[in-house]
Amino acid sequence: MAKTEVDAVVVGSGPNGLSAAITLQRAGLSVLVLEAKETIGGGTRSAELTLPGFVHDICSAIHPMAVGSPLFQQLPLAEHGLEFINPPVAAAHPFDDGTAAALRYSLTETAQSLGEDREAYLKLMEPIVRHWPGLAPDVLGPLRFPKHPIDLASFGLDALLPATQLVKRFKTKEARGLLAGMAAHSIQPLSNLTTAAIALVLTAAGHLYNWPIPKGGSQAIANALASYFQSLGGRIETGRLVRSMKDIPPTRVVLFDLTPKQLLAIAGDRLSSLYRRQLEHYRYGMGVFKIDWALDGPIPFTAPECRQAGTIHIGGTYEQIAQAEQETSDGKHPDRPFILLAQQSQFDASRAPAGKHTAWAYCHVPNGSTVDRTEAIEKQIERFAPGFRDRILARHTMNTVQMEGYNPNYIGGDINGGIIDIGQLYTRPVITLSPYKTSTPGIFICSSSTPPGGGVHGMCGYHAARVALREGFGKPVPIHLT
Ligand SMILES: Cc1cc2nc3c(=O)[nH]c(=O)nc-3n(C[C@H](O)[C@H](O)[C@H](O)COP(=O)(O)OP(=O)(O)OC[C@H]3O[C@@H](n4cnc5c(N)ncnc54)[C@H](O)[C@@H]3O)c2cc1C
Repeated sequence: MAKTEVDAVVVGSGPNGLSAAITLQRAGLSVLVLEAKETIGGGTRSAELTLPGFVHDICSAIHPMAVGSPLFQQLPLAEHGLEFINPPVAAAHPFDDGTAAALRYSLTETAQSLGEDREAYLKLMEPIVRHWPGLAPDVLGPLRFPKHPIDLASFGLDALLPATQLVKRFKTKEARGLLAGMAAHSIQPLSNLTTAAIALVLTAAGHLYNWPIPKGGSQAIANALASYFQSLGGRIETGRLVRSMKDIPPTRVVLFDLTPKQLLAIAGDRLSSLYRRQLEHYRYGMGVFKIDWALDGPIPFTAPECRQAGTIHIGGTYEQIAQAEQETSDGKHPDRPFILLAQQSQFDASRAPAGKHTAWAYCHVPNGSTVDRTEAIEKQIERFAPGFRDRILARHTMNTVQMEGYNPNYIGGDINGGIIDIGQLYTRPVITLSPYKTSTPGIFICSSSTPPGGGVHGMCGYHAARVALREGFGKPVPIHLT
């Protein structure tokens, strides 16, 4: 047998790659992370994209799933410099009449603000929030017999609905609009099954963990994970693009923090023809067009709730958002796209020079689109914040091709590592009870193309490492999630 330099290699230093690496290193293995770029972090990098002194989150910005991650909760990330900031309002949703709906940390305050939908909101959200600690391991892991089957079954009844059905429980534009904005995070038409699941998880996360931003930028999450991993003896090498298995030093197991398309390109000749065919059928979803701005002042939102919120869902009524998402899924570029916007510098002074501000936004576009959406996005923001454009000092944009060029995991601009619809919710990347295993012993996949999917929570990496420890080393996982 060839001499191994390290016990395990992780390809890619995104949050899932680093989480897998930590889990393996904690089990006593020697682990090497190979990262293509000169900096670590994948979807959790921050940089001065516009002007000196303006720190922008290149990808992820808002982190309820990181704070709520059963894995991250067990890691000493605060000791490694990670600090979260909670804006007064988790997420706001403006309307044309100058008012806005608001998701607040308090379930009762949020329900109270929804008028005649108060009871319907409480009836829907209160059981999920109450049972979440028991639900989390089942919702944030692979398909298996649930630890809390009754709680999961009652959550599943609502979660498997399309948002178009769930919205019928609400009458007010506020509750309906909030639901649309949450469901649109699924990056698919709101008539798809599972769009309610994404909406319910994100809304419940707001009541459980708020919607925080990391002090200093999302890079702080990557830095804390990497710092902890290195404190355990783990090694990271940057500038190491893996093009084939020959680029990986001798080792017992390899975990790829990559999506099926890249796994096929790098290790296709090592995989069975059946597994290769299954990966070739893996589906990617809509892409994103992203903008970061350096601003001369805060965004002049008309509604006060928007000025206090870290995240703003811009798109108007439920019907307007549902239409925009449907049109985008049909390959069009709607005049009034749905926009996710974050204004980190309002709550974190380290993001911009004194008196200046940053803003972060993206809208969904057809996969592979190269259409410039700057005008459409800025017009939508101006609709709810007249005078916004006058505050722009500089902007940085990325279309889907540039997104994929920046991080090869964003195939056609898909930021979730593949569409999270009913066909790929638990069975990503292929239909099997152990989706982290490939057809080849020693080769595993640990990216957001595995359950539970996109978002910065590290749970894909944790579960993949767990399987790799069992299959490759006969070792139990060292970190037990409650
Ligand atoms: C614009 C945008 C906004 C987002 N907003 C949020 C948000 O607010 N909150 C949230 O929770 N999530 C958000 N996300 C999603 C989140 O960033 C991802 O789901 C998450 O980063 C996935 O983590 P990962 O570890 O699976 O992969 P990635 O983070 O994609 O990491 C993969 C790593 O592998 C490296 N790599 C790729 N190919 C190779 C190769 N051949 N050799 C070596 N290294 C390689 C890449 O450089 C990268 O560092 C957003 C994403 C984007 C793009």
